[in-house]
Amino acid sequence: ASGYSLLRDPRHNKGLAFTEKERDAHYLSGLLPPVVLSQQLQEKKLMNSIRQYQLPIQKYMAMMELEERNERLFYKLLIDNVEELLPVVYTPTVGEACQKYGSIFRRPQGLYISLKEKGRVLDVLKNWPERSIQVIVVTDGERILGLGDLGCQCLPITIDVGTNNEKLLNDEFYIGLKQKRATGQEYSELLHEFMSAVKQCYGEKVLIQFEDFANHNAFELLAKYRTSHLVFNDDIQGTASVVLSGVVSALRVLGGSLADHKFLFLGAGEAGTGIAELIALEMSKRTNTPLEECRKRIYLVDSKGLIVKSRFESLQHFKQPWAHDHEPVKTLLEAVNALKPTVLIGASGMGKTFTKEVVEAMSSFNETSTKPLTASILNHVQRPLIMALSNPTSQAECTAEEAYSWSKGKAIFASGSPFDPVEYEGKVFVPGQGNNAYIFPGFGLGVVMSGAIRVHDDMLLAASEALAEQVTDAEYEKGLIYPPFSKIRKISAEIAAKVAAKAYELGLASRLPRPANLVKYAESCMYSPVYRNYR
Ligand code: NAP
Ligand code: MN
Repeated sequence: ASGYSLLRDPRHNKGLAFTEKERDAHYLSGLLPPVVLSQQLQEKKLMNSIRQYQLPIQKYMAMMELEERNERLFYKLLIDNVEELLPVVYTPTVGEACQKYGSIFRRPQGLYISLKEKGRVLDVLKNWPERSIQVIVVTDGERILGLGDLGCQCLPITIDVGTNNEKLLNDEFYIGLKQKRATGQEYSELLHEFMSAVKQCYGEKVLIQFEDFANHNAFELLAKYRTSHLVFNDDIQGTASVVLSGVVSALRVLGGSLADHKFLFLGAGEAGTGIAELIALEMSKRTNTPLEECRKRIYLVDSKGLIVKSRFESLQHFKQPWAHDHEPVKTLLEAVNALKPTVLIGASGMGKTFTKEVVEAMSSFNETSTKPLTASILNHVQRPLIMALSNPTSQAECTAEEAYSWSKGKAIFASGSPFDPVEYEGKVFVPGQGNNAYIFPGFGLGVVMSGAIRVHDDMLLAASEALAEQVTDAEYEKGLIYPPFSKIRKISAEIAAKVAAKAYELGLASRLPRPANLVKYAESCMYSPVYRNYR
């Protein structure tokens, strides 16, 4: 390849970091100004310039430009400054970027498979230059938030079956199919062709991560393909794993065992029922109690009120296991007062729904307990766990500040999108970020590195456990129930190791023999953004 094209290939471009020798050897002489910069200095320069931008969306675009220009430098920045840059390339800013995607679109990323490609999806996959794909993140864009490109062996794919968003249909800059969403047979045929083509093109062991599908398709796709493909739904399973981890981790502060607590959810969709099911599964394993019994400690409220028996017939199938014996309850506040939960989890997508009354109620009966206390609970001040998981920030059920001040500093709080630390009556509370971004990188790595052929729920439990173990005493002191994102590489290695170990234990791993030290092996499989030498 010519030096000129080397500079324009983001996978290999190093910009001013090309050494004199490399410039000589690769026909780069004269194509660059004379100075040679180290990757560190390039990083410093770019961080300086990104910090100049006022608007998060400008920072986002600067990062995307960098990715298009110099991939390794992009990931170096991201890895070294993850706490600062995650809110830029991920939630909340990515939400705005998705909404304005047509207008800010410059270069395509990944593959776009639309209804126009029906009947030749395999040919489309063959247009992608990379052969050894390990993870595919696929969306049909119906419930977008959280799309992340995890690097070169991860292929992002958008399946375009149209949109029902009138604003986009009328937007002259919209880049997708301008038609109403295909549904029913037309939809499932395209999806099926896609799933088959992926297997044919990349083999059995490519992980297909479903991302941001609407719940009416998400549950069905997962159920349909989990026995024949290596599939993982991030919004159902990844969220469940990260939230279970937060709950388990919080037990160290809350006291009691998982089964001592009572859970109430606002939102009974992919996230809500996915989390509820995994909590019940863990409870069932820990106490040797049937799953159905454990489900009874968990209640969900949807847009029509508390999910109860009398609503059974009209409920979507994924809500039916949660229809408990209880009189109808209309509002969240009434449900909170009737049930007196110790844990309140918001996954409704509706901002401001944890009102002052709701938070006050949560902290009132977690003061003088009304339930039989176990010895371990007695040792703790009763505190409510409140998780406002909805993204982006504008959709959070309440803010960190509200949770701490309305509960008078008693609530343990985590949210889906990041909030800054809050000072309340002289004490600083650091809210945790309960986001599936903790889980999916490590989970995917664990699956891929063990050559797992199927995803099993026990692997999700293993990921939860691994994450919960990463929280230190010092972090609990600050009010955190998750470790900081700055440790994400270490956390991901630990998660990957536990997930892989479970895959081996279950006989689902195909990479044999099993590496002795799975954490070390996970680390050795991780992407490094450091420049390579071209000799
Ligand atoms: P979903 O499947 O559409 O479910 C939304 C649920 O919320 C539905 O059950 C809906 O009720 C209910 N709901 C909506 N408005 C409500 C209201 N005013 N009062 C009570 N319930 C209401 O969506 P999802 O995939 O579960 O996602 C929900 C939210 O969770 C999104 O904001 C998403 O960003 C967030 N999330 C966060 C993470 C994370 O890592 N933190 C991960 C995944 C999702 P009906 O069923 O009656 O319509
Ligand atoms: Mn998502």
